[in-house]
Amino acid sequence: MIMNFFVWTRVQFPPSPIKNKEKKNMNMLDIIRKKKYKKEIKKEDFFFMIDEYVKNKIPDYQMSAFLMASFLNNLNEEETFNLTEAMIKSGKQISFEEIDNSLLIDKHSTGGIGDKISIPLVPIMASLGLIIPMMSGRGLGHTGGTLDKLESISNFNTQIDIENVKKQIYKIGCCFFSQTEEIVPADKKLYILRNSTETIESIPLIASSIMSKKIAEGIRGLILDVKYGNGAFLENINDSLKLANEMIKIGNKYKLKTTAFITNMDQPLGNYIGNSLEILESIQILKNKGPKDILQLIIEFGTEMMIISKKNNNKEEIKKQINKNIENGKALEKFEEIIHFQKGNPKIIENENLLNISKNKIIIESKKKGFITNIDSKKIGNLVKNLGGGRNKINDIIDNSVGIKIFKKIGEQINEKEPICEIYYNNKKNDISYIQKIIIESFDIRDFYDNNYILIYKKIENLNN
Ligand code: URA
Repeated sequence: MIMNFFVWTRVQFPPSPIKNKEKKNMNMLDIIRKKKYKKEIKKEDFFFMIDEYVKNKIPDYQMSAFLMASFLNNLNEEETFNLTEAMIKSGKQISFEEIDNSLLIDKHSTGGIGDKISIPLVPIMASLGLIIPMMSGRGLGHTGGTLDKLESISNFNTQIDIENVKKQIYKIGCCFFSQTEEIVPADKKLYILRNSTETIESIPLIASSIMSKKIAEGIRGLILDVKYGNGAFLENINDSLKLANEMIKIGNKYKLKTTAFITNMDQPLGNYIGNSLEILESIQILKNKGPKDILQLIIEFGTEMMIISKKNNNKEEIKKQINKNIENGKALEKFEEIIHFQKGNPKIIENENLLNISKNKIIIESKKKGFITNIDSKKIGNLVKNLGGGRNKINDIIDNSVGIKIFKKIGEQINEKEPICEIYYNNKKNDISYIQKIIIESFDIRDFYDNNYILIYKKIENLNN
C-alpha cells in the first residue's frame, strides 16, 4: 500500500484515460490500420494497446504488426510522448524517499559495439557519492546489452523487485537491474519483440523504450549517449541528433534534467566485444588499465553526471576525482560490492579465469600492410551475435564465452601477417573460415590515413532545467 502511494507522488499523472467501458469499443486492428494508413494515433489508443498487451490480451503478432507500421510510418512527437507515458504507466515508478534525490543521476546509451561504459561508470560515480539506480537493457540487434554482460558473472542477479532495488540503493548507492512485470513491463515485452521483428532502428521506438525506463526509475538527471556511425542503430548523424532532441523533450516534460552526447560508433569501443570479455575489460578499466577511448567517455559522462547533480561543477576537479578513485581502488571496491549484493561471484575481480571465456581462440592476421581506415562495426557486432553472443529469436540462449579481441583500431598501422584480432569461439558450433572472411571484410586497410577520429561529436544540454 505504502509503495503505491510513493509510486505516483513524484510526477502527477492524470489517471489512465481508458475506462473499462470504453475499452469495449476499442480494437487493436483499428490501431494497426490507423498507423498503416499514416493516421494519427490518439492517447487513449496507446493506453488501451499497452495496457492490453501487458495483460497478454493483445498477441505478439498484432503488436509486431503495429511495431512494423510505426517503424515504416513513424510516430510524431505527441504520439511518441503518449507511447512513452503509456509504457511508464504500465508499471510502477520508483521513488527514493530516504535519500537526497538530487543525487539520483543515471546514464543510458542508444547501443553500440563493445559499449561497456555503464559497467565501470556506475561504480566509479557511485564511489564519488552519486546514486545510480540503473535499469539497463539486454542485447538488441547487433549490439550487446549491459544486463547480458553482467549476467556472464556467475549467478549475478539482475531480476530485482522494487523493494530490493531500494534496499540496495540505500545501502551501496547503485544497482543494475532489469525491467520486470512490476516496473515498465511494457518495455520488457516490446524490447524482446523488437529484437526479433526487425523493428529496432526507429526514433520513436528507441526514444520511448529508453525514456520510459529512465523515468520509471525515479532519477532526477540523465546522461544520454546517442550513437551514430556504422555500428549504431541510427547511422546518420542527423537522425541521432533528432533522437537526442526527442529524448530531451520527453525528459523536459517529466522535469528530468537530460544531457545528450552525440558519439561516434564507427569502430568498436575498447578492445573487447562479447559478454564475458567485456566484463574482463571493465575490470581492467577499474584497475586503471583500460583503453583510452573508454576512459575519455567515462570522464565526459561522469563529469556531466556530477554537474547535473550540483554536487560539484568544477570540471577539472571532477576529472581528478574520477581518476583518483580509479587509481586508489575505490571504484573497483564499489564494483565488488555491486557483484556481492547482486549475488555474483566477486572473486572474478582477482581471478579472470573464473570468467566464462572460451579457450578456443584463433588469431586473424592482416592480409596486407597499411593503415586501418574503417572498421565495419555492425558486421563485427553481428559476428559476435552469430558466434552465440546474442539472440536472433526470443528464446535463444546466449553463449557468454564467445567474442573478439581487437588489436588494431582506426588510424593504426598494420603489417602483412600481423594480428588484427583474436576470436573466442565455440568449437562445436562455429565455422572458422566464415569467421575469417567476415573479419577480413570488416577491416578496411589502405596506404594512408589522414583523418582525425572524433569520438564525441557534440553535447546537447537541456536548457530548460
Ligand atoms: N536501449 C534501449 O533501452 N532501448 C532501445 O530501443 C535502444 C537502446
